[in-house]
Amino acid sequence: MTLANKPLVLVVEDEPPLVTLLRYNLERAGFRVTEAGDGKEALVLCREERPDIVLLDWMLPHISGLEVCRRLRRGQETRKVPIVLLTARGEENDKVRGLDSGADDYITKPFSPAELISRLRAVLRRAEATMASAVLQFEDLTVNLAVHRVMRAGREVRLGPTEFRLLRYLLEHQGRVFSREQLLAAVWGRDVHVEPRTVDVHIRRLRKSLNGNKERDLIRTVRSAGYALDRDAIVVA
Ligand code: CA
Repeated sequence: MTLANKPLVLVVEDEPPLVTLLRYNLERAGFRVTEAGDGKEALVLCREERPDIVLLDWMLPHISGLEVCRRLRRGQETRKVPIVLLTARGEENDKVRGLDSGADDYITKPFSPAELISRLRAVLRRAEATMASAVLQFEDLTVNLAVHRVMRAGREVRLGPTEFRLLRYLLEHQGRVFSREQLLAAVWGRDVHVEPRTVDVHIRRLRKSLNGNKERDLIRTVRSAGYALDRDAIVVA
């Protein structure tokens, strides 16, 4: 997630009126919202859409929110996603169980939308701070997020701010194919009016900088789909 980007919240809740209320307040506060009505759907969406944060109701049909939380923490692709548990159960013991299952925070119903949003923001800030100290790696490429240093095979790669954000986003979502529109929304921000072709221009610059020594191209162009950073050359018709 970058500052220009609106964070994507996955709302997992089976009561439609509450989903409507949450979506309304979250969108007004500058979040993007995707929703799942049960735990199974939540697990799939979490892998497919890679939300920046999950707002997870405890009482769900089939799989409880607590179990969804545990499974997200066990999943290779989902173990780091920040999770806020939403529950009607206010007992201290429940709170402890919730946090033990891997949730980052716990909000009791009924809640005020303003409080919910400030709690979500706080959890996101903590997650961002953790990420900012991280080093992202892919093959012979290393990106130090704290000092904005990019190294490829021991050589320092200089990137413009947009190329840096693009690379960071692709690195944080390795193996996923993004359309130009998705990259625009994620890297430039949804409210910025930029032609999708602009993405191609910056991808070209990024490639030029990364492959300066005629190294192997790390960014895969997926015909009629978009771009990805991954190991496997998948043939897409
Ligand atoms: Ca519920």
